[in-house]
Amino acid sequence: MTPDQEVRQFLGSGDRDVLASDWPGDNVMSRVEAAERAMKQALIAEVRRRAKGGHLPRLPPGLDPSRFAIGKVAPMVRGLFPSREQEAVFRVFEGSLKFVTRGNIERVLIQMHSLETAWTIGNLYLGSLGLPGLDDKPVRLVGLSEETSFFVSMAYFEEKDPFADYVVHEAAHVFHNWKREWAGLRHTRRQEFLLPIAFAKRETFAFACEAYSRILEQAKSRAERLRLHATYAAAYIPDCDGVDRYELADILAEALAARNGWKRILRRCSPPQCSSGQAEKGQELLAGSPTGRTEYASERTARGDPEERNQSHGRGCQESDPGHVSGAAHLESAQCGRASGRR
Ligand SMILES: [Zn+2]
Repeated sequence: MTPDQEVRQFLGSGDRDVLASDWPGDNVMSRVEAAERAMKQALIAEVRRRAKGGHLPRLPPGLDPSRFAIGKVAPMVRGLFPSREQEAVFRVFEGSLKFVTRGNIERVLIQMHSLETAWTIGNLYLGSLGLPGLDDKPVRLVGLSEETSFFVSMAYFEEKDPFADYVVHEAAHVFHNWKREWAGLRHTRRQEFLLPIAFAKRETFAFACEAYSRILEQAKSRAERLRLHATYAAAYIPDCDGVDRYELADILAEALAARNGWKRILRRCSPPQCSSGQAEKGQELLAGSPTGRTEYASERTARGDPEERNQSHGRGCQESDPGHVSGAAHLESAQCGRASGRR
């Protein structure tokens, strides 16, 4: 394949030969650098070309994303961490929320280290304009988190699903993605990440936090909380690979009946060895990667069909497998969808 053909393949699918074997250059490094530079430039130009004329929802006047994010994560942080740790956890979320706008899309793409994540964010942006993605298919993606940053579609401001909050969802992923050490918190081999969330329960945890947050925001009484839970379970619970909808509804019911529902959600989503009293303290974690930062990108979609959920774009959803050393098993992110929602 010629370099031009490779660039076109990358633009249309997000797939590429990471070793850039067919590119000119004296060694692997120079070939990879040339390929990545060309693909990044082509991606930015293609997103710019496709985005012309689309309608983008507006940021509410005066909205400060940083303060907005802190306001959204505050109930979670206060519910899940002891008071002596809360300040450090809040610092993790400073500047973490980035709504992807016309004004910042090119800067966001330029700054992305991973070409695959840049390609995915390009799609998120095109979707927020009501346009098809780079692969010409409908875009359902509305949020993506990587390390402590989360990128959220402007579709957030036109969301009709009363239980959707992509900001809370993506923030919830940061808890299993960021190490306590990097936040300046006490850590041990068994207390490595901010919260002990089982590998297989990460989406369940994020969706449970999202729905719980929305129900608490909207309900004034226990009766109202129960009514909203019934509505959620009947019509809005997400249809997402890797999420057991019955279990999610059950976790939410338990959380809504508890004094501190956040801890119930955490306990139900903790690894088995942590699921008794210890996990409820939000302290213990899996033995895990002792060295190196684990890159993790998770994606949040608004609503998808089964065909789209099964797509593979080769984009990054890397995380260390619980109990294994770093080296980041490369996994395809599940494409999640809702039974009803904005689109
Ligand atoms: Zn997610």
